[in-house]
Amino acid sequence: LAMYQAKAAGRGSAVVFQPWMHERSQRELSVTTALRRALREGGLELDYQPLVRLETGEVTGVEALLRWRPADGPPIPPDEFIGLAEAAGLMPEVDAWVLDRACADLAAWRAAGVPLARTSVNVSRRSLTPALPTTVLAALARHGLRGEDLCVEVTETSVAPDPAAAATVLLQLRAVGVRIALDDFGIGQSSLSELATLPVDVVKLDRSFLAHAGERDGDALVTSVVALCTALGLDVVAEGIEDRATAARLAAAGCAYGQGFALGRPQRPEQVVGVIVTGVGGVRGNALTVPR
Ligand code: C2E
Ligand code: MG
Ligand code: MG
Ligand code: MG
Repeated sequence: LAMYQAKAAGRGSAVVFQPWMHERSQRELSVTTALRRALREGGLELDYQPLVRLETGEVTGVEALLRWRPADGPPIPPDEFIGLAEAAGLMPEVDAWVLDRACADLAAWRAAGVPLARTSVNVSRRSLTPALPTTVLAALARHGLRGEDLCVEVTETSVAPDPAAAATVLLQLRAVGVRIALDDFGIGQSSLSELATLPVDVVKLDRSFLAHAGERDGDALVTSVVALCTALGLDVVAEGIEDRATAARLAAAGCAYGQGFALGRPQRPEQVVGVIVTGVGGVRGNALTVPR
């Protein structure tokens, strides 16, 4: 490990092995071992967060968000374990598990008459491979669903290493009706050029976009980005809406859809059902609206 660290630091530089390096690698090892066990024996769960039409409060979809609640410890947030799972080569397996569970839940809701249009699933850059369409189609088929029932969320970062290869995979998903969302839009490098060339249906504006909402220039920025996306024929979802005033401002800026704590927290599948059925308050009035 010390040798590896030294190599990583570059030619000719000497890195002295530090105790924290050992501790860190031990923790990574124990986390990936426990994650492998969770995949085999259970311990992974999905929470769902509503995607909302801002004007009406209608729930137009839900996003599946992975939760790991180890039996013998505190819950581990995805931002902490997904990086480790990627490094350990576990993400294709994790994402396949998520796809299957998300399809199972959607099929169960449909069978119970819950009017949900689709579920969005995040896909790691490590899973954005030629094998992905097969994995997605298998999950849909197992639960009697169609491509239209699913939206796959990818990030600029996952597409960046090889945009042409990523586009090929995304086009195959699209060909069977799966919608593609570009997640965390606005925090990457090549945002605008990417948008025009990638086969994408939905753009999710990162929460950092909202940091300046309310300031004059901030609102101008949001309004122009929304207009640009709309001109490209894309649906726009604003992420991380934490208060109703921001929701109203985004709607005024032309943003049709939103997601955030103010519109609904990620919650257990049993709980999100009620929200799907009743909707949440829209920015037009504060009435609860019933989706179609
Ligand atoms: P993301 O896909 O951009 O998901 C949105 C994240 O923002 C979620 O965090 C959600 O809980 C959080 N969020 C939602 N509304 C608000 C808000 O109003 N304020 C704030 N501060 N945060 C809000 P979470 O669940 O911790 O997920 C973090 C990231 O982990 C996700 O970002 C996604 O990149 C990744 N992830 C989550 N589940 C999966 C999964 O099943 N597979 C893969 N590959 N990645 C996943
Ligand atoms: Mg997402
Ligand atoms: Mg996001
Ligand atoms: Mg995000």
